Amino acid sequence: MVLSILIKMEEKSAQCPYCWEMQYFEIDPSIAEQEYVEDCQICCHPILIRVTVGIEDIDIQTAKESDGF
Ligand SMILES: [Zn+2]
Repeated sequence: MVLSILIKMEEKSAQCPYCWEMQYFEIDPSIAEQEYVEDCQICCHPILIRVTVGIEDIDIQTAKESDGF
């Protein structure tokens, strides 16, 4: 039997910087600061995502990968 560690993933919405469509991102709230690239589900451009996990809220920022923050 495989025991898996249950991490409650948080779902956060943010706008794609290319097509401005709202997207939902799965965020692991156990990591306080994260930066990663994920392709837009609509236009497939690489979105740079920065996540800051606070005590009460999760802040998500998006930027074009080529531009950075
Ligand atoms: Zn897009």
